[in-house]
Amino acid sequence: MTIERIVKKFQENHPEQDVTMLYLAYEFAAAAHAGQKRKIGEPYIQHPLHTAYILAEIKADLPTVIAGLLHDVPEDTNRTLEEVKENFGEEIGNLVTGITKLGKIKYRGIERYRENLKKMFLAMTGDIRIIFIKFCDRLHNLRTLEALPPEKQKRIAQETLEIYAPIAGMLGIWRLKWQLEDLCFKYLHPDKFEELENEYEVEKKAARNQHFQKIKNQLIPRLQEVNLKYEIEARFKHLYSIYQKMQRKDRKFDEIYDVFALRIIVPSVDDCYKALGVIHTLWKPKPNRFKDYIAVPKPNGYRSLHTTIFGPDGKATEFQIRTKEMHEESLYGLAAHWYYKAKGSKDLQPHWVKEIIDIQKEISDTQELIKNIKLDIFNDRIFVFSPKGDVFELPEKSTPIDFAYAVHTKIGNQATGVIINEKLAKLDHELKNGDLVEIITDKGRLYPNRDWLKFAKTRRARDRIKQFAKKSPLENIKRFLPNIKKDKKPH
Ligand code: MN
Repeated sequence: MTIERIVKKFQENHPEQDVTMLYLAYEFAAAAHAGQKRKIGEPYIQHPLHTAYILAEIKADLPTVIAGLLHDVPEDTNRTLEEVKENFGEEIGNLVTGITKLGKIKYRGIERYRENLKKMFLAMTGDIRIIFIKFCDRLHNLRTLEALPPEKQKRIAQETLEIYAPIAGMLGIWRLKWQLEDLCFKYLHPDKFEELENEYEVEKKAARNQHFQKIKNQLIPRLQEVNLKYEIEARFKHLYSIYQKMQRKDRKFDEIYDVFALRIIVPSVDDCYKALGVIHTLWKPKPNRFKDYIAVPKPNGYRSLHTTIFGPDGKATEFQIRTKEMHEESLYGLAAHWYYKAKGSKDLQPHWVKEIIDIQKEISDTQELIKNIKLDIFNDRIFVFSPKGDVFELPEKSTPIDFAYAVHTKIGNQATGVIINEKLAKLDHELKNGDLVEIITDKGRLYPNRDWLKFAKTRRARDRIKQFAKKSPLENIKRFLPNIKKDKKPH
């Protein structure tokens, strides 16, 4: 890797920027790491160079790419953080500080896991670019993992799979997530990896390409008939996600029908629905497989239309339809979407990052903190609607009680029933994405039912219910009696 390649890649996305600082950072880092070698045998500077290149690939901004070049300087060389700040300024200095802090974890086993997760989350609540640098740093380390002893390989791969990859997914940076996962998969289950790779890449490739060709032959004339501008590309599932699906559903490779999908990229949102219409008139859609993530995006911001149809020879085939912008976002997540368009604004932090900040304010114990974060954040999320049309984001499998407390504590405390999609339902009913939820309340009711703890999922609802559950009914009623102000003692 060379600094010239990085500059070239960076300028593809930021043609107007002055890149002098990139060269300076390279010289600074190269001098600092001079004489150091990596386990794999190459000069150490190759590692920060590769890290910076991956950052440029995911369209990172200039300070982030520069911080990528400098990320190991304070930790591994004689040059200090202060010197980095003096030479490259506060912003880059802070990014490098963040990375350096993330690096220092002494613990082993589960303690290490918790500490790691906590640090990642804390870094995220500050400047999310620190996490990007960490991902790219880790990705390059994984690519050169063969130089390490097997035990260390497994530990790093495991840690990446449990912590880094899910967070990359939460941030919607799929490109990095896939790469991280497949590399880890290779080190954790080498036999399975090879078996799948062989089956997938070698044996089935020809048949797959033929199938695509058949579909394209039917589809393209129809798209042209309705004057749609389009790009079609084949998207292959990455090996680790196929493996996961085989494990989860206990299926053989041949039974996973969405190992590949066709992606259609069109100019506008209207065109997405137009293309969908064309596809559904050509082939029968598979029931329950249509998902409109444009009208209701996924929590990480992902947008697209998904549908699976019975294609030529009755073969189930998945389509993903999206605009160019949605496509970029799906590959680069926040990197493409908000961070680089509205620099540094905390208003643009995803909802769940704000939630972490709240949780973290209340809980100082690491173990508790992680438990709570995992509970609420790591689960997949759903969106439900209030009768007024307000959207509420909840973890998967949430119940009307979770919804009620998300609206207002009072609504939660006074809930007696619920109407879901205009039908009466029970308070422990599992909510689904897109449900319209109306809570029936009883104004005379003062406190929640402690049995709700059996099915309430969100921390917010559980905490509110627990506040009352600990106390006797009489004590709870007393809480609502008007506060009698104690007279101030006379001076
Ligand atoms: Mn590094």
